[in-house]
Amino acid sequence: MSDETVYAIASGKGGVGKTTTTVNLGTALAEAGERVAIVDTDLGMANLAGFVSLAPDSTTLHDVLAGAASTDDATYRLADNIVAIPSGTSLDEYAETSPEGLREVVDDLRDQFDYVFLDVGAGISHETVLPLGLADAVVLVSTPEPAAVNDTKKTIELTERSGGDVAGLVLTRTRSGSDISHDDLADRLEVPLLGTIPEDPATRESVYAGTPLVVFNPDGPASVAYRRLAAELTGVEILGPDTSDGGEPAGEKSATQTVVETVSSDTASNENDSDDGREAAPDEVSSAITEAESDT
Ligand code: ADP
Ligand code: MG
Repeated sequence: MSDETVYAIASGKGGVGKTTTTVNLGTALAEAGERVAIVDTDLGMANLAGFVSLAPDSTTLHDVLAGAASTDDATYRLADNIVAIPSGTSLDEYAETSPEGLREVVDDLRDQFDYVFLDVGAGISHETVLPLGLADAVVLVSTPEPAAVNDTKKTIELTERSGGDVAGLVLTRTRSGSDISHDDLADRLEVPLLGTIPEDPATRESVYAGTPLVVFNPDGPASVAYRRLAAELTGVEILGPDTSDGGEPAGEKSATQTVVETVSSDTASNENDSDDGREAAPDEVSSAITEAESDT
């Protein structure tokens, strides 16, 4: 598990907590001192941009994939140890991108950061499938609802066909007292259960505050669960917040508020080919999509 550093955060169904998981796993590791990059590979329906409050004409992953910018140009610092590479939100930009360039972006980031998280779009389009094969391991995200869990099967199948590996399942928005067994859901998919993230109203509040949940409400149930998940997934030791009783840690919050700032690119970019044989050939990916579509 320890030599996995690039994770795709994927789901069959949309709206299950992929972006929340990407941002908070990344932030939990950054707080533990790891250098982290999070990438919005959901090219058609980007929403990581909401976390970095970009100006409309900012350089994004779309420009990189269109060959008009470097990865560094689209890299924005979020807080200490963590950067984001957002996607653009306009359809015109989307039409000009070629997802194949993502392989180079991932190789670039793999060399520069300890951990890379790819926030993958839901569904079975080409841009969704490609990251599954580029990552060292795929983290499946689902709510405990049967329909969402069912849709996860397709993501597992697409991962296998694109030459990727499934790390396991994360169940989000779980509620105590429900009669669904989380272990049974993972067993049904034949994948390990990596962790569960409870329903927590602070999650939505953290989005409005523009601050990752694990910073916004570090002692809340979902934050605790995300730190535990980050440790479980990577093997990095992650300590909980210092829960001294009483006072609000108001002063500390502002220090970690989202800040937009292009990362200066004086780190010499590493030119060596770190081809570890995980990449799926483009035609394998296309046929995986075609096969998956004809399954429905
Ligand atoms: P996705 O990226 O899969 O589309 P998001 O991460 O954007 O999903 O989450 C979808 C919605 O669910 C958001 O409004 C988010 O705030 C909310 N949400 C995610 N996880 C939780 C949770 N553990 N508790 C409460 N709400 C959550
Ligand atoms: Mg999302």
